[in-house]
Amino acid sequence: MTHSFDALILGGGAAGLMCAIEAGKRGRRVAVLEHADRLGKKILISGGGRCNFTNLHCRPENFLSSNPHFAKSALARYTPQDFIALVEKHNIPYHEKTLGQLFCDRSARDILGMLEAECEHAGVSIFLNTNIQNVEQATEFIARAPNAEFKAPALVVATGGLSIPKIGATSFGYNLARQFGLAIREPWPGLVPLILSEEDCDRYRDLAGISADVIASCHGQQFREKMLITHRGLSGPAILQISSYWQPSQPIQLDLAPSAEVTAAFRDPRTPRNLNTLRTELRKFLPQRFADRWLEAHAPTSWTNPALADFEKQMHAWAITPTETEGYEKAEVTAGGVDTNELSAKTMEARKVPGLFFIGEVVDVTGHLGGFNFQWAWASGAAAGRAL
Ligand SMILES: Cc1cc2nc3c(=O)[nH]c(=O)nc-3n(C[C@H](O)[C@H](O)[C@H](O)COP(=O)(O)OP(=O)(O)OC[C@H]3O[C@@H](n4cnc5c(N)ncnc54)[C@H](O)[C@@H]3O)c2cc1C
Repeated sequence: MTHSFDALILGGGAAGLMCAIEAGKRGRRVAVLEHADRLGKKILISGGGRCNFTNLHCRPENFLSSNPHFAKSALARYTPQDFIALVEKHNIPYHEKTLGQLFCDRSARDILGMLEAECEHAGVSIFLNTNIQNVEQATEFIARAPNAEFKAPALVVATGGLSIPKIGATSFGYNLARQFGLAIREPWPGLVPLILSEEDCDRYRDLAGISADVIASCHGQQFREKMLITHRGLSGPAILQISSYWQPSQPIQLDLAPSAEVTAAFRDPRTPRNLNTLRTELRKFLPQRFADRWLEAHAPTSWTNPALADFEKQMHAWAITPTETEGYEKAEVTAGGVDTNELSAKTMEARKVPGLFFIGEVVDVTGHLGGFNFQWAWASGAAAGRAL
């Protein structure tokens, strides 16, 4: 059976639904083709079930891309305020948790319900359990699922990245881009916990669950947030953020006492220079068990001023080399993706293939932790939806 539309949207996640709403509102006959048995599964698990749906302080600097300017146009034309207006129109209660991050008070189901209601209102056709297996371009695009065929002059690829394969992530979008001759920036897992070497793991494993305020940095990027010790290595917001920039075999630097001077007390000549005093000082900045364990491995070589200065330096730039990340099973996003040079920044349409669009996570634009990935999904979805 063949269904004909003005536009086909592959993938009923955040970006695909926003695109469908914008195009539907403009009178286009659009179909969302989703291989799962329901829409927006990732929205439902996002933000610990409360969906961090945007960030009040969204700026182009909050995104990684091989072209840092690419996202600017779409982000400027669909802002956090635009999405907040939609949330408020649907009377969804929300709050700012921290650093401009907006979360639902009740549940991520509110956001998905809102998008579904908007789709219905805009006359969008939704096809679930529709696993698109191949796409072909004749006079129109033809997308084929096992039991049905869909035709339209425009095709929007919103199939997301490789993160969390168990809820339906596939490499479909990248394969399709390659099929049409578009370049891909090799994907890698982002916002993902890091695994430490056997030796480091043995040293810190029993501290799993302990967290500390740190500055994590590498490749000129730095994030001051919480770091969490896990059974396999390190996690927590600071580590997730820096993981998107980390390259295998490179160290990351951790400042374990941001903007503090741990050895300041030793300037007083009456302060006894020994491990007990240093341990007491360190416990003022780090959780006790972590402070003690870290000191066991990094005690000053002597109690001279230069040795204490070296110790202080190490505290602020502890270099640790992860062996790997926890991979796509645990990554919140996939960095890399369809090369932005291939797409119009205004409409997300492929320059070489008129009528073919890529939006959301499948594109080489990746947000920091904190609601930025959804803001990119909404903004890129709206950009394409307005061009269909
Ligand atoms: C655990 C977790 C928590 C997160 N929390 C947040 C958060 O709080 N805030 C935030 O900003 N970001 C968060 N993210 C990231 C955010 O969810 C994604 O960046 C965003 O969902 C990307 O939207 P998308 O529409 O591009 O892709 P997706 O939401 O992944 O949607 C893609 C859709 O395409 C479908 N699909 C795939 N292949 C096919 C095919 N061949 N045929 C048909 N359909 C197909 C998939 O089933 C899916 O429904 C989180 C991610 C995870 C994994």
